[in-house]
Amino acid sequence: MLTVNAIAAPSATEPLVRTTVERRDLGAHDILIEISYAGICHSDIHTVRGDWGPVAYPLTVGHEIVGHVTAVGAEVTRHAVGDRVGVGCMVNSCRECANCRAGQEQYCENGNTGTYAAVDRDGTVTQGGYSTHIVVDQDFVLRVPTEIPIEAAAPLLCAGITTYSPLAHWNAGPGKKVAVVGMGGLGHMAVKLAAAMGAEVTVLSQTLGKKDDGLAFGAQHYYATSDPATFEALRNGFDLIVNTVSAPIDINQYLSLLRLDGTLVSVGAPPEPLPVQVFSLFGARRSFAGSSIGGIAETQEMLDFCAERGIAAEVEVIGADQVNDAYERVLSSDVRYRFVIDINTLR
Ligand code: NAP
Ligand code: ZN
Ligand code: ZN
Repeated sequence: MLTVNAIAAPSATEPLVRTTVERRDLGAHDILIEISYAGICHSDIHTVRGDWGPVAYPLTVGHEIVGHVTAVGAEVTRHAVGDRVGVGCMVNSCRECANCRAGQEQYCENGNTGTYAAVDRDGTVTQGGYSTHIVVDQDFVLRVPTEIPIEAAAPLLCAGITTYSPLAHWNAGPGKKVAVVGMGGLGHMAVKLAAAMGAEVTVLSQTLGKKDDGLAFGAQHYYATSDPATFEALRNGFDLIVNTVSAPIDINQYLSLLRLDGTLVSVGAPPEPLPVQVFSLFGARRSFAGSSIGGIAETQEMLDFCAERGIAAEVEVIGADQVNDAYERVLSSDVRYRFVIDINTLR
């Protein structure tokens, strides 16, 4: 066992504090990673605050992890000491079900093992990336191309893949009109990725406050959802809408913006239901869908795509003692566009 420095939530209501977590001894297929940066995803906040259900405390979250390999197990072949690597939202899956065999480990029929707050194979609860080191099976460790600045690569491991996967699945590309709802951590990556894929991108944000940024990220249009005229102007306008909002929104209003056979895919995960009027779907044979992160092979494809196309996250690097303030800023939509913890401040 290795005891390493970390930040953990003691309960759903208390601030995160400095502590330590245990990492297992290296198994034959395991990799020890010295973490450099860890992104703050809104899912971290939902999880520690119990929004999605009870979790075991103390809990260390963080699933946007980048660092370097410092040791490998006896049978590791995929990565070597010194490699620049990343870990995203899952650290294992059954590997045997149809979805795992198809490279869709995120949809493992027996449940993937989340990077934090999941019960690991050894019965312990997984602890995430707000810590100095992590031990992960080689098959769930990604290669992080050196073309991407390392701190700006961290958010790709969740925000990047979670938006890349539905954009690729629903064929965002030339001739397609794509809207992104909410321009936070996931949303700003969705804008950059959809634009790089060749789609015509529109941002639907609460206000016009971030319009210049949205256009700089590659959007061609930017509308405020606080203005009812937006929903009139954009009726039947989109092939694909990616909803990244962390809170409940009136999904029927957004469905009305889809053209014939269009799809609204929710990656945002508010704890409350999003009630759908079937008539919102009937009007143009519309679909309402969901999407969860992405598979390991697809995550590598996304990282390589970002390296080739010069895409990375916009980050605000913070120290370990600023995490609680950062959480409050994320909750008030005051994030430009991802907080990333400099893990050196934890050593
Ligand atoms: P974030 O950085 O907080 O971004 C969410 C954005 O939604 C905000 O920046 C804001 O954008 C908008 N928003 C927030 N509250 C709103 C409200 N009450 N009404 C309308 N718009 C609002 O969060 P994130 O890290 O991108 O995560 C977004 C959601 O995706 C979370 O629920 C998270 O748990 C979920 N998630 C899902 C997956 C998956 O696999 N499906 C993976 C990662 C995260 P504007 O200021 O532009 O309006
Ligand atoms: Zn996440
Ligand atoms: Zn499986």
